[in-house]
Amino acid sequence: MKEEYKGAIVALQNLRNPIVRTKWVELTTADIDTIYKSICPVCSVGMLLVGRDQQTMELTEHDRCLFCGQTFQYTDIEEMREMDNGKKPFPVRSTSEQEESK
Ligand SMILES: [Zn+2]
Repeated sequence: MKEEYKGAIVALQNLRNPIVRTKWVELTTADIDTIYKSICPVCSVGMLLVGRDQQTMELTEHDRCLFCGQTFQYTDIEEMREMDNGKKPFPVRSTSEQEESK
């Protein structure tokens, strides 16, 4: 967690906000060792983990930031599922190190 944001963003403050539609592929990777984790583009503090349906094990379209509570809808969920099924290669996403050096 980035210290400088702690005072400005209150945990779960975006829990009741409208859903933000976003492309997973355009989000910043939170951890290069895991495929799906992203940094929340709303608060820049929390993470989006990408869930799975308990029945089908498919990646779920909706996700929620662990910190600010913002709900997201992945508009590229079909591509994500194809990657997950091995039908498409995983894209290289930007990392937080790249973001910070901008
Ligand atoms: Zn957030």
